[in-house]
Formats: sequence, C-alpha cells, structure tokens
Amino acid sequence: MWAGRPSGLPAPFFLLSGTIPRMSTITYLDTRGLDQSEPPFTHVVIEGIAPGGGLFVPRHLPTLGMDQITSLAQLPYSRRAALIHSVVGVDIPEDRLNALTALAFGSNFDHEAVAPVVEPSPGMHVLELWHGPTSAFKDMALQCMPLLFSESIAIRRAAGEALDDYLVLVATSGDTGKAALEGFADRANTSIVVFYPADGVSDIQQKQMVTQRGANLAVFGARGNFDDCQNAVKAVFNDTAFNAELHDRHRLKLSSANSINWGRLVPQIAYYFSAYADMVATGAAVAGHPIDVCVPTGNFGNILACFYARRMGVPVRRLLCASNENNVLTDFIRTGVYDISTRPFVTTPSPSMDILISSNLERLLYELCRDPERVASWMHNLTTFKRFEIDPATFAQVQEEFEGDFVTNDESLETIRRVFSETGYLLDPHTSVAWETAVRHRRELPILIASTAHWAKFGIDVYKALNGIRYHDVLPPHAAGMSGLDLLDEVSRMTGGLSIPRNLSELRQLPARFTHVVDATAAGARGALREWLSSRA
Ligand SMILES: *Cc1c(COP(=O)(O)O)cnc(C)c1O
Repeated sequence: MWAGRPSGLPAPFFLLSGTIPRMSTITYLDTRGLDQSEPPFTHVVIEGIAPGGGLFVPRHLPTLGMDQITSLAQLPYSRRAALIHSVVGVDIPEDRLNALTALAFGSNFDHEAVAPVVEPSPGMHVLELWHGPTSAFKDMALQCMPLLFSESIAIRRAAGEALDDYLVLVATSGDTGKAALEGFADRANTSIVVFYPADGVSDIQQKQMVTQRGANLAVFGARGNFDDCQNAVKAVFNDTAFNAELHDRHRLKLSSANSINWGRLVPQIAYYFSAYADMVATGAAVAGHPIDVCVPTGNFGNILACFYARRMGVPVRRLLCASNENNVLTDFIRTGVYDISTRPFVTTPSPSMDILISSNLERLLYELCRDPERVASWMHNLTTFKRFEIDPATFAQVQEEFEGDFVTNDESLETIRRVFSETGYLLDPHTSVAWETAVRHRRELPILIASTAHWAKFGIDVYKALNGIRYHDVLPPHAAGMSGLDLLDEVSRMTGGLSIPRNLSELRQLPARFTHVVDATAAGARGALREWLSSRA
C-alpha cells in the first residue's frame, strides 16, 4: 500500500515559489440572498448557517493546475489539507493552518496516509475515509473543523470582537454524536453536549459516547426517540430566555456545528485532491486524464465536496450519486423533481444515508444556477409542499454532472458477501451501496469509490451479509444473544482474523463517565445543561 512520502522531504517547487497564489480571503454568499454581508471563513465556520436559513457558499473558487495537483502526492496528508484550506481563501494564517491540520490529521489516524487509496479489485479504487478515531468518514471533517472553529473565535477576539465561548449542542441517532465529541474534546473556547435516545442506539454506539474523554463535554441519554431528542435540542436553540441565561451566567452561545457548516466541507474537498494525486503517483490514473467517482450519499456533503474539487481542477468525468432505499436523490437526478410528499422513510443497513432532506443539495442548486431567488423559492416549496421542481436549464446541468442510482437493502448485503468472497476485502453497508453502484455504471475510466466506514462500525449487518441472512430476517439465536463487541469478534474469526479498530476493541476496558438519563423534552435538556454548567463553575 502506498503511504505518501515522508514529511522530511522538500516541499514541491510551487509551494516554495509561492506560485499557488496565496489567495486573498474569499468571502461567502448566502444561497438565499438574504445575508448581503459577505463574511469571511472565520465568520461562516462559527455561524454555520445564514440568518434566513440559507447556506454559505464561496463567492468564487480558484482552480489548481495539474502540476500543482499531482505534486500534492509529495506532501504528508496534513499539508495537503492545509494547502486546500489556504487555496479556498480561509482567513487563518498559513503557519497556523499547517499547525492545526498537523493536529487534525496526525497520530489520531491509524494509517500514515490518513486517507489512502487501495485497489481491492482491478480498476476499483477505494478511498478509505475511516482511519480516524471513530472509524467513519465524519472524522475527516470533524477532526479538523473544530480546531478551525476554535481558532476563528480566537482570531475574531484578537480583532476586537467580544465573542462568548461556544457550546455545541448535538442530538444524535448514533455515529455523528461520537465523531463530534471526538472533534470538540478539549478544544479551546468551545464545549459540547450530546443527547442521544437512551433506547435508540446500539450498545457499541452508547459505549462509545458514554466513555468519551475530555473536560469540556457531557453526554446525556434521553427518554424518547431520535425525533424527540432533536425537537428538544431545537427548542433549546429557540428559547430566547435560556439563551440569555447562558450568555449572562456563563458567557456561552449555542452552536450546532452540523454537516451544512462550510467548515466541514473544506477538509472533504481536500481528500479528493489527495486521492487523485495518489492515483497519479501510483499509475492508477494518468495526470490530466479523468476518473469517475462514486459516493454513498445521504446529506449530500461528501459528493458536493467532490463537485467542488472538480470545479477546482480535479478531472472527474462522472459523479455517481449512490443511494440506498431512501432514494429521493436518485429520482431527483433522473427527473429534476425533488418530492418527499408521499415518500416513506425506510430503515436500511446504511443508516447514515437514511435521509429524506439532503440539506447540502441547496449548495449544488445555487452553484448550478447562481440565482438566490430561485433557490429560495425551491426551498420554500420544499418546506411548504414537500416538493420542488427545478427549471430545464438547471436540470440539464444536473444531468450533465451527475448520475444517480440506488441499491436495495438485500443487494447491499449481498454485495458485501460477494466482494469479500471474491477479493477478501470487507465492505461496510454504506460503502457496499457505492461499490454496487460503481459496478453497474463503470465504463472505461478508472473509478474511485468513497469508502465511508470501517466494517466494524456496522457489525450486525456485516455478520448477516457474510452468513447470507436477509436484512429483515433476525439473527440466529446464538448470535442474537451476543453483545455488539462479541459479534465483532465473531466476524473477525469468520473472516480469518480481520482486525477490529482499537477505538472499538478498547471499549470493553473504558469506564462509563456519563450515566445521566433525562427526559427528551426542552425542559429535560435545559435541566441537564444547567446542572452540568453549574457543576463546572
Ligand atoms: C454521513 C455518512 C454518509 C453520508 O454522507 P453525506 O455527506 O451525508 O452524503 C455515508 N456513509 C457514512 C458511514 C456516513 O457516516
């Protein structure tokens, strides 16, 4: 496996000569056109969302030349990420970007290359985005963005703004909460509190959260389901009196740091540059020649990052948007109509893609039409009528740039079984959706598949897959009685000893730090926060 050149080697010429224009700060526009202030990165990463509900998009983006892209292969991953942040005009000094990305993408990843490209089967190139501390791709953004968030607070304070510290509130159905906790743990100027449905997450997910290390955080189980948790957190955000209390007593402001934050997209753009440079370095692609990319998609963040990377010079011909049975995006890409008015929400073995409203799609629509009024009206229709239809010119562009397909639950499990038996490479149920889509749509070009989770994150369904059990069938009694961790050992044994990431295997030894369970209501959440804040004071 190719693991990048050691970091001691000299930087490529363009870095020394400064021929990558050290971009002047790039400002941001609001997709709905309400916010005309054009803030820089240090504002948008903290605010997260524009005041009227729109998303921030860069006013413009530079493109990199092919030499500049291929020479990224000579840099360690953290420098590649720093460089892309710098190119997209982040208003944080370059030496600080280098220092922060070195922290973000260092020994917290269990692979020296951080995001390696492997080739388990000829022509099928897999970008492994799960070597971070929670073994899933959210780490690629959430190991980095909180550092820039915290730095942005410091920079704005140094410029004379009186900013409070930030308290990030998260309602989670499982994996995002853990990745956010890891990212914000012990970051300056911030703290984080996570609420999860006490009976609605797997035993491994719960253990991961309640054993979280860090002095600036807390985790609460909530009596209710995920929707109740989310509604409780939303109500706390909208509670003016409580927000005033947080400011007056604790000098704290609430933030959500969720996946529509532009600060989470930049590190994702970086790994597509990195992957292309690596593919050229190993001969998997020819410099300047296009590749296809296939992304397992939920909220449209990962694939949108690839769209931006393409606009910035990575030669991607087709962007394949892979969905599970919640296939609203497949229909949208094929018809130009986004319709969830009668669409049921189904459960799948790829829960991180179980989404009806793909929030980041709004950015794509803006980029394709550059007309905030049209975007605002589509989003209005989505809220009001649960449906919108884009105009023919914008639709033609969607069709030119994307292909969409979906994979059923049983097909995705069958893909895991087949690929393992043919190649010895074990896919998780999200990556298997992308793999199967890639197989169906592959043409003559090399294809890059974004792999978004280690198989051990989704052990039960991987166990079912390997044993030929259908998704809706129950586990056999001896497996049904096992804990999540024992089941992982079982899969490891069945596969001839595939290893389980340390962050999962060590859960057996870690003490539970957070055992409080509260009501999944606004009052429950407020009470939990008050008690935790006063215990810290
Ligand atoms: C979040 C997630 C996805 C979906 O990514 P989006 O950026 O929301 O499209 C896919 N797979 C896994 C494992 C995830 O955690």
